[in-house]
Amino acid sequence: MAISARPDSIGQGRVLRLLRDEGSTSRAQLGELAGMTRSKLEAEVARLIQVGLIQEGGKAASRGGRRSTMVELSPFLHFGGVDLGASSMRVAVLNAELQVKAHVAESVDLRRGPELVLGRATELIEKLARDLGVQLAGIGVGVPGPVRFREGMPVSPPIMPGWHEYPVRDIIARRFGCPVLVDNDVNVMAVGEHWGGVAKSVENYLFVKIGTGIGCGILIRGEVYRGIDGCAGDIGHINVDPDGPVCACGNSGCLEAMFGGAALVRDALAAARAGRSEALAERLARKSEITAEDVGQCAAEGDAVAVGLIRDGGQRVGLVLAGLVSFFNPSMIVIGGGLAGLGHVLLAEIRGVVYRRSLPLATGNLPIVLSELGSSAGVVGAAVMISDHVFSIP
Ligand SMILES: [Zn+2]
Repeated sequence: MAISARPDSIGQGRVLRLLRDEGSTSRAQLGELAGMTRSKLEAEVARLIQVGLIQEGGKAASRGGRRSTMVELSPFLHFGGVDLGASSMRVAVLNAELQVKAHVAESVDLRRGPELVLGRATELIEKLARDLGVQLAGIGVGVPGPVRFREGMPVSPPIMPGWHEYPVRDIIARRFGCPVLVDNDVNVMAVGEHWGGVAKSVENYLFVKIGTGIGCGILIRGEVYRGIDGCAGDIGHINVDPDGPVCACGNSGCLEAMFGGAALVRDALAAARAGRSEALAERLARKSEITAEDVGQCAAEGDAVAVGLIRDGGQRVGLVLAGLVSFFNPSMIVIGGGLAGLGHVLLAEIRGVVYRRSLPLATGNLPIVLSELGSSAGVVGAAVMISDHVFSIP
């Protein structure tokens, strides 16, 4: 059953978002949370039931007097979340309370172009939805590059040749016949972590993704700050070494040309080939490739070169973050993305530099922590974004 109804008042939107965030709720409690009188709430709830967006549940526990009936979002309401990375994609179908009901991840090379990559992504969502027997009320998509949000298309993404101004939103919307929103992947992760992760009650914070590249999502008063052209937080291209290697963007010595998944693999390969690290050389000989995870495992086994590569990377990220802390004074920094799996060594290094290099006032109460949602931050955030949209007046 397809549900394409939308709320037709601000109050209905508020009720829908509350039910998404709180789950099944009694009418009495819903009225309190939404700040509505009983009669106003009754009218909004009646309309939402009538269009099929919500339904009545069981009876609530008695709070004295007449027992209030529970209401909940329709079990037929589902959203799709797509998290495109430079080297992997994750696709999920979530119910209206944003629990992941099915998901799949696979490796992908975005450089193969939008037709092929989006073709595969839509195939995967269709299969998940078909297996669950559901239709999607909306799909949120994160892509690893700057996005012109209002038009739903990437703009000059350095690591996505062929994607410039490609109408990602419109193409997926046409295929599924439902609303679609597209944003930068790290913005989407920042939203996900704020909705259901470690940054749940934090309104002003930075989400730093360290994957193949490096980016930063900025939340201000609970809202994503995208900048004028959609490239706010593109910290991977901050210069950290004027003599550093050339970056995918064409400049030299960008943060992500020095560290990040691609740079880490490059440096580990060089160390293995030069015979500087036995552990890395052994992996290269055995698998004929080295991944960022290999570097993490070699570091965990005590290989000094692998530990050194992660420490150096953590130093560079830490220096950039120290600058951001002085500029933005966030109340939390969350580290996510594939390289967050490098874990303690990386986190300890980043913390060390940020706490040493920032003003005490800004770091006195500044947690720097790993993402709690981990690899699902992107698909959850994408579903939050699109459900916010579907649960608002068209
Ligand atoms: Zn760059």
